[in-house]
Amino acid sequence: MAASKKIDVFISQDAIKTRVKELADLINRDYQNQEIILVCVLNGSFIFCADLVRNIKVPVQIEMVSLSSYEGSQSTGEVSFRLDVKQSLVGKHVILVEDIVDTGLTISFLLKHMKLKNVASLKLCSLLLKRARLKIEVPVDYLGFDIEDKFVIGYGLDYDGLYRELPYIGVYGA
Ligand code: 5GP
Repeated sequence: MAASKKIDVFISQDAIKTRVKELADLINRDYQNQEIILVCVLNGSFIFCADLVRNIKVPVQIEMVSLSSYEGSQSTGEVSFRLDVKQSLVGKHVILVEDIVDTGLTISFLLKHMKLKNVASLKLCSLLLKRARLKIEVPVDYLGFDIEDKFVIGYGLDYDGLYRELPYIGVYGA
């Protein structure tokens, strides 16, 4: 079992709720009368995506993808699919929903992959971005919070598989 460390609240439940609603409102404004597909990047985005979609007012479908990153001492950007979308995305308006963009390598891989599917449009919605850590330019069309370089947990984000259930975003071992 993970040793219990102190967890400081970094982004409160209320602040998240307000920002998620604002992001959904932006999406509603941009896609009036159009059907969209939200692609939830598992596992970290499942709570964010669930809250986001409940504020979406345009016709919306949900798909899930799961990626595995090479886990060495350094992020190499080697990424592969565990689960891809189940339907054709040809001609569809697709929004990738990510929990956090850190180096940007994972989401860049996914954006490249999705572009090959002849989508009508492709955008990225990320709850968090650690801008200072980016190794590659990533166009985040809908961004929740630009955060400093801290390891965060909660609201879907884990530490060793744990803490995803926290209703706020916290800093572990602060
Ligand atoms: P990237 O390819 O952008 O470096 O990595 C993105 C992935 O790394 C995220 O989807 C997430 O799984 C993980 N990650 C990066 N920073 C954090 C963090 O602060 N907390 C947690 N829990 N995961 C993180």
